Amino acid sequence: MSRLSHSEIHMVHRIGWLRAAVLGANDGIVSTASLVVGVAAAGTGRTEVLIAGLAGLVAGAMSMAAGEYVSVSSQTDAEQADLAREKKELAETPAAELEELTQIYQSRGLTRALAEQVAAQLTEHDALGSHARDELGISETVTAHPIQAALVSALTFAVGAVVPLIVALLAPPTQIVIFVAVATLLSLAVLGGLGATAGGAGVWRGALRVTFWGALAMAATAIVGSLFGVTVG
Ligand SMILES: [Zn+2]
Repeated sequence: MSRLSHSEIHMVHRIGWLRAAVLGANDGIVSTASLVVGVAAAGTGRTEVLIAGLAGLVAGAMSMAAGEYVSVSSQTDAEQADLAREKKELAETPAAELEELTQIYQSRGLTRALAEQVAAQLTEHDALGSHARDELGISETVTAHPIQAALVSALTFAVGAVVPLIVALLAPPTQIVIFVAVATLLSLAVLGGLGATAGGAGVWRGALRVTFWGALAMAATAIVGSLFGVTVG
């Protein structure tokens, strides 16, 4: 396993957050823009479009927060259960646990003698922490916090959703669909490229991928909206 330098570890951590933020903003842009385009395509006025868009922003941000909170909480619950089981095993069978840790270090390339020494010293220093980190892969630095994660995803969703709303507010009343569509595709291309760069993938491919799905989503709602407009109008 390649050893990461101090700055690379922080870089990996920051990339994780950046990617989550880009994905959250993408969701916000695509779902709110599609809603705005659909309602505008039905021939409604700017006020109705903005009310629908705002309701979509709030509903989307809340559901993102709820989803993130539930998923991170259940991950945290699973980690806590693993740690409690490990603590029990350390109390009941300390010799077997020490042997287990020794074998983990051996499998990572240490000689038996050195592995025994390292395992003994780390167990003496912090037995649960060593098993959590080296056996279960749980470490404080990567553990997400449910409330923090929920707030970040709601916020990034809302930031993304504001883009089509501002455009719908400023566009000529009869041109809302086209203005929102163009502005949305441009911002998706920028975000897609950013997300791809953060993940070390090709910028253009990342930009095209996100823009394609955004265009598809808006086309679908525009068709539904215009069909609705025709039948109701
Ligand atoms: Zn263990």
